[in-house]
Amino acid sequence: MADLTKKYDVLVAGGGNAALCAAVAAARAGSSVLVVEVASKFYRGGNTRHTRNVRCAHDAATETLSGPYPEDEFFKDLLQVTQGATDEVLARHMIHESKSLLDWLPEQGVRFQPSLGGTLSLGRTNSFFLGGGRSMLNALYLTAESLGVAIEYEAEVVDLEVDNGMFLSATVRHGGQNHTVRAATLVAACGGFESNIEWLKQSWGPAAENFLIRGTPNNRGTVLRLLLDRGVEEIGDPTQCHAVAIDARAPKYDGGIITRHDSVIFGIVVNRHAQRFYDEGEDIWPKRYAIWGRLVAQQPDQIAYIIFDSSVVTMFMPTLYPPIGAPGLRELAVKLTLDPAAFEKTVHDFNAAVRPGTFDDTILDDCRTEGIAPPKTHWARRIEAAPFYAYPVRPGITFTYLATRVNKQARMLMKDGKPSANMFAAGEIMAGNVLGRGYAAGMGMTIGSVFGRIAGTEAARNARN
Ligand SMILES: Cc1cc2nc3c(=O)[nH]c(=O)nc-3n(C[C@H](O)[C@H](O)[C@H](O)COP(=O)(O)OP(=O)(O)OC[C@H]3O[C@@H](n4cnc5c(N)ncnc54)[C@H](O)[C@@H]3O)c2cc1C
Repeated sequence: MADLTKKYDVLVAGGGNAALCAAVAAARAGSSVLVVEVASKFYRGGNTRHTRNVRCAHDAATETLSGPYPEDEFFKDLLQVTQGATDEVLARHMIHESKSLLDWLPEQGVRFQPSLGGTLSLGRTNSFFLGGGRSMLNALYLTAESLGVAIEYEAEVVDLEVDNGMFLSATVRHGGQNHTVRAATLVAACGGFESNIEWLKQSWGPAAENFLIRGTPNNRGTVLRLLLDRGVEEIGDPTQCHAVAIDARAPKYDGGIITRHDSVIFGIVVNRHAQRFYDEGEDIWPKRYAIWGRLVAQQPDQIAYIIFDSSVVTMFMPTLYPPIGAPGLRELAVKLTLDPAAFEKTVHDFNAAVRPGTFDDTILDDCRTEGIAPPKTHWARRIEAAPFYAYPVRPGITFTYLATRVNKQARMLMKDGKPSANMFAAGEIMAGNVLGRGYAAGMGMTIGSVFGRIAGTEAARNARN
């Protein structure tokens, strides 16, 4: 058990990637560090547990990356997905710093493996963790422990004492008691507010009741709220988040990767009124998959159905739940409780609009529709080979973007524009500085690792002064 009465150089709130990168960096810089993680040891690591890869710039192929990914290309991809809603200085700094992560993370015990195949076309841009996010976390925790970092599990930050931009102490709930924990500096790395349905409802209204949360139930935004209430400047739009379409039968929290559907491009997507509502073939997966959560959130009752036929059923990753199947379109509509006539018309209209082409799901192929709205601009093929299938999907919220504003040192900025004396932030809690909207796969971990390392290093420097 950690000593909660001692004054530490650096208090790290949270126990995921951002927190552990900060803790390791601060300890390596000679600081005494306490990590407080609300989860138990088994469930430690928040959303990081579910991850598989990190996006880093690099100038040449490596043993595990198939080719170069220059800084400018990374920035171009970021601009495309955010439609320019990013802090360019911070974003470019992050991308530059991401390069050295490919050495730094392995130095902390993290191991990479070559990219997975299948629907992921990330072999050049993203480094995959050998053993996934849990394994990555295990390596960081082992390194942190070997460096003398004190770690307290089932310890929740429930209050912060901040005086005019200076962190004084945190109230940590542990073992049924509140402890006042003092430290020279604070690194806040405890996620966004995605698990807090009541907070989500403030911007989304009652629709948020139908959202499923893909990751930890613990990222409730408690510390984010405390920091904003104590004068830290806010950045980002509370409705912006990373959200994908996940199986409507998934649990409310922590369904993880196995409930996500990557099959949109192989069929069509209809809403509760059996109507299509968006181009299912807009762009290749890594750049476009993250829009479907928001799109479904905007549909009646926040539900939609991915419809496909037996000709494509083996072309994508199987998920936790089998598709709902039926021998005919009408029977499928009945199973989905959709209007059979409307459903049949939608599929027939779509089929009639499909133009001949050469199907290739690895490129933006020439299989498209004509004369239908919305169009399907790539991978459009008739849905006609019985039996027919559907996956019911709901918005699966990954993480929110409303954030604490930070500078290049990961130091929080106060509402009066001044940098905080001793408070730093990393990971989801400051993601909105870089991600105003949109997402490119692997960036959550880039933000956590880059700013975690910076926050830990800067907090240690601050604590020495
Ligand atoms: C299913 C899934 C798959 C994903 N896959 C990828 C991927 O492959 N690549 C990628 O880049 N991103 C991925 N992401 C996003 C990625 O998980 C996050 O962006 C990243 O892990 C965030 O790191 P973090 O340290 O900021 O937050 P987290 O890892 O969520 O850590 C936050 C920590 O804070 C703790 N905490 C919260 N509140 C408190 C409190 N009050 N007191 C103390 N502790 C608290 C939590 O318990 C948790 O340990 C995925 C997310 C999900 C849900």
